[in-house]
Amino acid sequence: MISKSVMKKLVAEHGTPLFVVDHEEIRENYAEFRRRLPRVQAYYAVKANPDPAIVQTLYEAGASFDVASMPEFEIVYQYIKGLSAKKRQDFIWDKIIYANPIKANETLQQLDRYKPLVTYDNFEEIRKIRKYAPHAGLALRLRVPNTGAMVELSSKFGASSGEAVELIQASHDVGLVVEGLSFHVGSQTTNFENYVQALNLAAGVVREAADRGFQMKLIDIGGGFPAPYDEHVQPFKTLARRINAELDRLFPPEIEILAEPGRFLVATAGVAIAKVIGKATRDGKQCYYLDDGVYHTYSGILFDHCQYHLKAFKKGPTQICSVFGPTCDALDTISLAEELPDLQLGDYVYSRNIGAYSRASSTWFNGFPPAKVVHLNR
Ligand SMILES: *Cc1c(COP(=O)(O)O)cnc(C)c1O
Repeated sequence: MISKSVMKKLVAEHGTPLFVVDHEEIRENYAEFRRRLPRVQAYYAVKANPDPAIVQTLYEAGASFDVASMPEFEIVYQYIKGLSAKKRQDFIWDKIIYANPIKANETLQQLDRYKPLVTYDNFEEIRKIRKYAPHAGLALRLRVPNTGAMVELSSKFGASSGEAVELIQASHDVGLVVEGLSFHVGSQTTNFENYVQALNLAAGVVREAADRGFQMKLIDIGGGFPAPYDEHVQPFKTLARRINAELDRLFPPEIEILAEPGRFLVATAGVAIAKVIGKATRDGKQCYYLDDGVYHTYSGILFDHCQYHLKAFKKGPTQICSVFGPTCDALDTISLAEELPDLQLGDYVYSRNIGAYSRASSTWFNGFPPAKVVHLNR
């Protein structure tokens, strides 16, 4: 964990807004994931934080990657590019899954020469893949319950279990091979029952597919592994124990198990530090204006439904206050109820656990650039 004294030093050196990434924390999160889920290969979901330095750290730690666009693919592929053609082909499924069930024709055309593993969940996509990426291997994305997840995904993606085998058959009929199944239980899933239900649903589809002559070789259990944002989130080891028990019960050892953790690997590795640039009293309430906000590092408030807590370096009695970002939009509100001590212009505040879905969706709105990034312990 990045200490306050390190934060102060970095701010003195780099100014604000500042986004600090602790690579040691990323390595620890990855090691914990592998240790607690020994049967599961981790494909880091690059969208959580696509910083190439993070991809490098995870690549060096042995991770594989879930990408969803050509630019994300390129960030990862640069590590594979240098290998021999033979090794490259052995490697690509092992290192990359293109896990966006919907792909533009042009994207499929670009992907085809890599013979990648891609997900799909509908009949139109089969026709597109057949035409534009006939060398791709397929994983069928299933629709699974997302109950209680912070970010729900089941209304956008996933084939119902009722049509799953038809979608496998239809792929086979046009000469495509379905290697396995995937799902996503919803991001920041604190309801661990979702994983249990999804695994059982997938196991049902594996059996049904086998009856029709299709052997599934891999199960991709997706992302959703929660970051410890607050004390209500049960520890990862509790979730891992349940997942391991279901995996052992439902899937023979020759079935490969993949996962696509995003948030879990990077959320705790990021700290945002901002400066108080304005102060006012409105309706008797203290209001602070920061040089970072919802259009920038705090974008997860909007896109990720995540609330981040602010802390001050300064000590003293606290009061409830409002905290706003630097732009002229009223939407740029970080919090209407934050407990902070009396701050002066030029004081600093920080938020921990802001490494996922934060700077990744930062904009240039109103002319304010995204926060500067500093990497520690690379
Ligand atoms: C976003 C996403 C992930 C990562 O989800 P987390 O909840 O951050 O672990 C994994 N797989 C797919 C297909 C995704 O869209």
